[in-house]
Amino acid sequence: MSERMAYFQGQFMPLSEAKIGIMTHAFLYGTACFEGLRGNWNQDDGTLYLFRTKEHYQRLRRSSMILGIKLAPSDDELCDITAELVARAGFTEDVYIRPIAYKSEEAIGPRMHDVADDFLCFVIPFGNYLDDQGIRCMTSTWRRVDDLGIPARAKVNGLYINSALAKTEALENGFDEAIMLDDRGHVSEGSGENIFIVRDGKLITPPPSDNILEGITRDSVITIAHDEFGIPTVERSIDRSELYVADECFMTGTAAHLTAVIEVDRRTIGSGLPGDVTKRLHGRYYDAMHGREEKYAKWLLPVKPQVAGRQGVKA
Ligand code: PMP
Repeated sequence: MSERMAYFQGQFMPLSEAKIGIMTHAFLYGTACFEGLRGNWNQDDGTLYLFRTKEHYQRLRRSSMILGIKLAPSDDELCDITAELVARAGFTEDVYIRPIAYKSEEAIGPRMHDVADDFLCFVIPFGNYLDDQGIRCMTSTWRRVDDLGIPARAKVNGLYINSALAKTEALENGFDEAIMLDDRGHVSEGSGENIFIVRDGKLITPPPSDNILEGITRDSVITIAHDEFGIPTVERSIDRSELYVADECFMTGTAAHLTAVIEVDRRTIGSGLPGDVTKRLHGRYYDAMHGREEKYAKWLLPVKPQVAGRQGVKA
Protein backbone atom coordinates (compact mmCIF):
# COMPACT_ATOMS: atom_id res chain seq x y z
CA MET A 1 0.00 0.00 0.00
CA SER A 2 1.31 3.48 -0.80
CA GLU A 3 1.01 6.45 1.52
CA ARG A 4 2.06 10.10 1.68
CA MET A 5 4.99 10.11 4.08
CA ALA A 6 7.09 12.66 5.95
CA TYR A 7 10.48 12.74 7.60
CA PHE A 8 9.81 15.05 10.53
CA GLN A 9 11.77 15.70 13.73
CA GLY A 10 14.13 12.87 12.83
CA GLN A 11 11.44 10.21 12.24
CA PHE A 12 9.59 8.72 9.28
CA MET A 13 5.82 8.96 9.70
CA PRO A 14 2.56 9.29 7.72
CA LEU A 15 2.23 12.85 6.40
CA SER A 16 -1.00 13.28 8.38
CA GLU A 17 0.95 12.90 11.66
CA ALA A 18 3.60 15.55 10.87
CA LYS A 19 2.30 18.79 12.43
CA ILE A 20 3.86 22.09 13.47
CA GLY A 21 2.54 24.60 16.02
CA ILE A 22 0.90 27.78 14.79
CA MET A 23 3.60 29.93 16.41
CA THR A 24 6.41 28.25 14.46
CA HIS A 25 8.78 31.00 13.27
CA ALA A 26 8.80 29.73 9.67
CA PHE A 27 5.00 29.95 9.57
CA LEU A 28 4.92 33.42 11.12
CA TYR A 29 7.66 34.97 8.95
CA GLY A 30 8.43 32.65 6.02
CA THR A 31 11.87 31.96 7.51
CA ALA A 32 12.62 28.77 5.65
CA CYS A 33 14.12 27.58 2.41
CA PHE A 34 13.10 24.56 0.40
CA GLU A 35 13.64 22.31 -2.55
CA GLY A 36 11.28 20.54 -4.89
CA LEU A 37 12.46 17.38 -6.55
CA ARG A 38 10.82 14.71 -8.55
CA GLY A 39 10.86 10.99 -8.68
CA ASN A 40 9.98 9.79 -12.15
CA TRP A 41 8.37 6.37 -12.35
CA ASN A 42 9.65 3.89 -14.91
CA GLN A 43 7.07 1.13 -15.31
CA ASP A 44 9.42 -1.07 -17.36
CA ASP A 45 11.91 -1.62 -14.56
CA GLY A 46 9.66 -0.81 -11.57
CA THR A 47 11.94 2.00 -10.39
CA LEU A 48 11.42 5.57 -9.27
CA TYR A 49 14.30 7.68 -10.51
CA LEU A 50 14.93 10.67 -8.25
CA PHE A 51 16.34 13.45 -10.40
CA ARG A 52 19.58 15.20 -9.39
CA THR A 53 18.98 14.69 -5.67
CA LYS A 54 22.47 15.72 -4.68
CA GLU A 55 22.31 18.96 -6.67
CA HIS A 56 19.00 19.82 -5.01
CA TYR A 57 20.56 19.35 -1.57
CA GLN A 58 23.60 21.37 -2.57
CA ARG A 59 21.26 24.19 -3.54
CA LEU A 60 19.33 23.80 -0.27
CA ARG A 61 22.63 24.14 1.57
CA ARG A 62 23.49 27.30 -0.38
CA SER A 63 20.02 28.74 0.35
CA SER A 64 20.43 27.89 4.06
CA MET A 65 23.83 29.50 4.10
CA ILE A 66 22.52 32.73 2.53
CA LEU A 67 19.67 32.86 5.07
CA GLY A 68 21.52 31.68 8.14
CA ILE A 69 19.66 28.41 8.69
CA LYS A 70 21.68 25.48 10.00
CA LEU A 71 21.23 22.34 7.92
CA ALA A 72 22.59 19.63 10.19
CA PRO A 73 22.61 16.45 8.01
CA SER A 74 25.32 16.09 5.34
CA ASP A 75 24.38 15.97 1.65
CA ASP A 76 24.83 12.18 1.65
CA GLU A 77 22.64 11.80 4.73
CA LEU A 78 19.98 13.97 3.10
CA CYS A 79 20.05 11.78 -0.03
CA ASP A 80 19.74 8.64 2.11
CA ILE A 81 16.81 10.09 4.10
CA THR A 82 15.08 10.99 0.85
CA ALA A 83 15.61 7.57 -0.75
CA GLU A 84 14.29 5.84 2.35
CA LEU A 85 11.29 8.16 2.58
CA VAL A 86 10.35 7.48 -1.04
CA ALA A 87 10.90 3.75 -0.67
CA ARG A 88 8.74 3.60 2.46
CA ALA A 89 5.95 5.62 0.81
CA GLY A 90 5.69 2.89 -1.84
CA PHE A 91 4.32 4.97 -4.73
CA THR A 92 4.50 3.40 -8.18
CA GLU A 93 3.82 6.67 -10.01
CA ASP A 94 5.56 10.04 -10.40
CA VAL A 95 6.20 11.75 -7.07
CA TYR A 96 7.20 15.16 -5.79
CA ILE A 97 9.51 15.56 -2.80
CA ARG A 98 9.60 18.72 -0.70
CA PRO A 99 12.58 19.12 1.67
CA ILE A 100 12.48 22.22 3.91
CA ALA A 101 15.13 23.72 6.19
CA TYR A 102 13.25 26.00 8.56
CA LYS A 103 13.20 28.06 11.74
CA SER A 104 11.38 25.54 13.86
CA GLU A 105 11.12 27.33 17.17
CA GLU A 106 7.90 28.97 18.34
CA ALA A 107 9.18 32.52 18.62
CA ILE A 108 8.04 36.08 17.92
CA GLY A 109 10.14 38.68 16.10
CA PRO A 110 11.52 38.54 12.55
CA ARG A 111 15.22 37.64 12.58
CA MET A 112 17.48 34.88 11.33
CA HIS A 113 19.73 34.51 14.37
CA ASP A 114 18.87 33.02 17.72
CA VAL A 115 15.97 30.83 16.55
CA ALA A 116 16.36 27.02 16.35
CA ASP A 117 16.44 25.26 12.98
CA ASP A 118 15.21 21.89 11.75
CA PHE A 119 14.87 19.91 8.53
CA LEU A 120 11.83 18.08 7.22
CA CYS A 121 10.86 16.38 4.01
CA PHE A 122 7.71 14.87 2.54
CA VAL A 123 6.67 12.94 -0.54
CA ILE A 124 3.37 13.04 -2.45
CA PRO A 125 2.22 11.69 -5.82
CA PHE A 126 2.48 14.36 -8.51
CA GLY A 127 1.59 14.30 -12.19
CA ASN A 128 1.82 17.01 -14.86
CA TYR A 129 2.02 20.60 -13.64
CA LEU A 130 1.59 22.46 -16.94
CA ASP A 131 0.04 21.43 -20.25
CA ASP A 132 2.70 19.53 -22.17
CA GLN A 133 1.14 20.61 -25.49
CA GLY A 134 2.35 24.16 -24.84
CA ILE A 135 1.26 27.04 -22.62
CA ARG A 136 0.07 30.63 -23.01
CA CYS A 137 1.89 33.20 -20.87
CA MET A 138 1.47 36.82 -19.90
CA THR A 139 4.09 39.29 -18.76
CA SER A 140 3.27 39.87 -15.13
CA THR A 141 2.63 43.30 -13.65
CA TRP A 142 4.45 41.96 -10.55
CA ARG A 143 8.22 42.50 -10.66
CA ARG A 144 10.65 39.74 -9.72
CA VAL A 145 12.04 40.48 -6.27
CA ASP A 146 15.57 41.87 -6.47
CA ASP A 147 18.65 40.24 -4.94
CA LEU A 148 18.87 43.20 -2.57
CA GLY A 149 15.34 42.50 -1.30
CA ILE A 150 15.09 38.72 -1.07
CA PRO A 151 17.77 36.81 -3.01
CA ALA A 152 16.09 34.80 -5.78
CA ARG A 153 19.01 32.37 -5.97
CA ALA A 154 18.03 31.20 -2.49
CA LYS A 155 14.80 29.22 -2.63
CA VAL A 156 13.21 31.12 0.24
CA ASN A 157 9.69 30.10 1.30
CA GLY A 158 8.59 33.69 1.96
CA LEU A 159 9.78 34.75 -1.51
CA TYR A 160 7.08 32.61 -3.09
CA ILE A 161 4.45 35.25 -2.39
CA ASN A 162 6.06 36.97 -5.39
CA SER A 163 5.45 33.87 -7.54
CA ALA A 164 1.97 33.32 -6.10
CA LEU A 165 0.83 36.86 -6.95
CA ALA A 166 2.14 36.53 -10.51
CA LYS A 167 0.67 33.04 -11.04
CA THR A 168 -2.78 34.05 -9.77
CA GLU A 169 -2.79 37.18 -11.91
CA ALA A 170 -1.94 35.07 -14.97
CA LEU A 171 -4.60 32.43 -14.30
CA GLU A 172 -7.27 35.01 -13.48
CA ASN A 173 -6.54 36.68 -16.80
CA GLY A 174 -6.97 33.41 -18.69
CA PHE A 175 -3.28 32.52 -19.18
CA ASP A 176 -1.41 29.42 -18.00
CA GLU A 177 1.69 31.01 -16.53
CA ALA A 178 3.34 34.35 -15.72
CA ILE A 179 6.64 35.71 -16.98
CA MET A 180 8.16 38.11 -14.47
CA LEU A 181 10.44 41.00 -15.39
CA ASP A 182 13.01 42.22 -12.91
CA ASP A 183 13.49 45.80 -11.61
CA ARG A 184 15.31 46.82 -14.77
CA GLY A 185 12.62 45.41 -17.04
CA HIS A 186 14.60 42.35 -18.11
CA VAL A 187 12.87 39.01 -18.47
CA SER A 188 13.61 37.06 -15.32
CA GLU A 189 11.58 33.85 -15.02
CA GLY A 190 8.19 32.21 -14.57
CA SER A 191 6.48 31.74 -11.21
CA GLY A 192 8.23 28.39 -10.81
CA GLU A 193 10.26 27.99 -13.99
CA ASN A 194 13.28 29.34 -15.80
CA ILE A 195 12.75 30.61 -19.33
CA PHE A 196 14.62 30.06 -22.61
CA ILE A 197 14.16 31.42 -26.10
CA VAL A 198 15.54 29.94 -29.30
CA ARG A 199 16.91 32.36 -31.90
CA ASP A 200 18.91 31.36 -34.97
CA GLY A 201 19.59 27.88 -33.59
CA LYS A 202 20.94 29.12 -30.24
CA LEU A 203 19.40 28.97 -26.79
CA ILE A 204 19.25 32.25 -24.92
CA THR A 205 18.39 32.39 -21.22
CA PRO A 206 18.67 35.13 -18.57
CA PRO A 207 21.81 35.08 -16.40
CA PRO A 208 21.63 34.54 -12.61
CA SER A 209 22.18 38.29 -12.15
CA ASP A 210 18.71 38.90 -13.62
CA ASN A 211 17.25 37.59 -10.35
CA ILE A 212 16.50 34.02 -11.36
CA LEU A 213 16.63 30.85 -9.34
CA GLU A 214 19.62 28.93 -10.68
CA GLY A 215 17.48 26.05 -11.90
CA ILE A 216 18.63 22.46 -11.95
CA THR A 217 16.43 21.66 -14.95
CA ARG A 218 17.90 24.74 -16.64
CA ASP A 219 21.37 23.34 -16.10
CA SER A 220 20.30 19.87 -17.32
CA VAL A 221 18.79 21.30 -20.51
CA ILE A 222 21.88 23.43 -21.22
CA THR A 223 24.01 20.28 -20.85
CA ILE A 224 21.75 18.14 -23.06
CA ALA A 225 21.56 20.88 -25.72
CA HIS A 226 25.33 21.10 -25.86
CA ASP A 227 26.28 17.43 -25.51
CA GLU A 228 23.54 15.82 -27.60
CA PHE A 229 22.81 18.39 -30.27
CA GLY A 230 25.78 20.80 -30.28
CA ILE A 231 23.36 23.66 -29.51
CA PRO A 232 25.07 26.51 -27.62
CA THR A 233 23.43 28.51 -24.85
CA VAL A 234 24.00 32.22 -24.41
CA GLU A 235 23.28 33.61 -20.95
CA ARG A 236 22.29 37.24 -21.40
CA SER A 237 19.49 39.61 -20.57
CA ILE A 238 16.31 39.32 -22.64
CA ASP A 239 13.90 42.19 -23.29
CA ARG A 240 10.17 41.64 -23.13
CA SER A 241 9.79 42.37 -26.86
CA GLU A 242 12.48 39.82 -27.72
CA LEU A 243 10.15 37.12 -26.42
CA TYR A 244 7.66 38.10 -29.12
CA VAL A 245 10.14 37.63 -31.96
CA ALA A 246 11.73 34.40 -30.69
CA ASP A 247 11.68 31.36 -33.01
CA GLU A 248 10.73 29.22 -30.01
CA CYS A 249 10.29 29.66 -26.29
CA PHE A 250 10.12 27.16 -23.44
CA MET A 251 10.21 26.97 -19.68
CA THR A 252 12.07 24.55 -17.45
CA GLY A 253 11.53 23.46 -13.87
CA THR A 254 11.20 20.44 -11.64
CA ALA A 255 7.40 20.65 -11.68
CA ALA A 256 7.08 21.93 -15.25
CA HIS A 257 9.83 19.70 -16.77
CA LEU A 258 10.40 21.28 -20.18
CA THR A 259 7.24 23.01 -21.39
CA ALA A 260 6.80 24.83 -24.68
CA VAL A 261 5.52 28.41 -24.54
CA ILE A 262 3.33 28.93 -27.61
CA GLU A 263 1.97 32.39 -26.87
CA VAL A 264 3.17 35.43 -24.91
CA ASP A 265 0.89 38.44 -24.31
CA ARG A 266 -1.45 37.12 -27.04
CA ARG A 267 1.33 37.00 -29.62
CA THR A 268 1.98 33.63 -31.21
CA ILE A 269 5.53 32.35 -30.79
CA GLY A 270 6.97 30.74 -33.94
CA SER A 271 4.41 28.44 -35.57
CA GLY A 272 2.18 28.39 -32.46
CA LEU A 273 3.15 24.77 -31.78
CA PRO A 274 6.09 23.39 -29.77
CA GLY A 275 9.15 24.05 -31.97
CA ASP A 276 11.67 21.59 -33.31
CA VAL A 277 14.48 22.42 -30.86
CA THR A 278 12.05 22.37 -27.94
CA LYS A 279 10.74 18.94 -28.98
CA ARG A 280 14.20 17.46 -29.40
CA LEU A 281 15.38 18.71 -26.01
CA HIS A 282 12.15 17.57 -24.40
CA GLY A 283 12.55 14.03 -25.77
CA ARG A 284 16.11 13.63 -24.58
CA TYR A 285 15.37 15.15 -21.17
CA TYR A 286 12.44 12.75 -20.67
CA ASP A 287 14.57 9.74 -21.54
CA ALA A 288 17.33 10.94 -19.18
CA MET A 289 15.01 11.46 -16.24
CA HIS A 290 13.37 8.05 -16.66
CA GLY A 291 16.68 6.20 -16.59
CA ARG A 292 16.69 5.44 -20.31
CA GLU A 293 19.96 7.24 -21.11
CA GLU A 294 23.00 5.50 -19.66
CA LYS A 295 25.03 8.67 -20.08
CA TYR A 296 22.83 10.55 -17.62
CA ALA A 297 22.50 7.76 -15.05
CA LYS A 298 24.80 9.89 -12.87
CA TRP A 299 21.90 12.33 -12.43
CA LEU A 300 19.58 9.68 -10.99
CA LEU A 301 19.03 8.09 -7.62
CA PRO A 302 17.06 4.89 -8.33
CA VAL A 303 14.62 3.79 -5.63
CA LYS A 304 12.56 0.63 -5.52
CA PRO A 305 9.24 1.32 -3.76
CA GLN A 306 8.68 -0.78 -0.69
CA VAL A 307 6.54 -3.85 -1.30
CA ALA A 308 4.41 -5.47 1.41
CA GLY A 309 6.51 -6.98 4.18
CA ARG A 310 9.83 -5.70 2.83
CA GLN A 311 11.74 -2.55 3.75
CA GLY A 312 12.35 -0.34 0.72
CA VAL A 313 15.95 0.06 -0.38
CA LYS A 314 17.98 2.01 -2.88
CA ALA A 315 17.93 0.00 -6.13
N1 PMP B 1 12.45 29.51 -10.85
C1 PMP B 1 11.63 29.40 -9.78
C2 PMP B 1 11.09 30.65 -9.16
C3 PMP B 1 11.29 28.15 -9.28
O1 PMP B 1 10.48 28.03 -8.23
C4 PMP B 1 11.79 26.99 -9.92
C5 PMP B 1 11.39 25.64 -9.42
N2 PMP B 1 12.25 25.16 -8.44
C6 PMP B 1 12.64 27.15 -11.02
C7 PMP B 1 12.94 28.43 -11.45
C8 PMP B 1 13.24 25.98 -11.70
O2 PMP B 1 14.22 25.36 -10.91
P1 PMP B 1 14.48 23.81 -10.96
O3 PMP B 1 14.71 23.44 -12.38
O4 PMP B 1 15.68 23.60 -10.12
O5 PMP B 1 13.28 23.13 -10.41
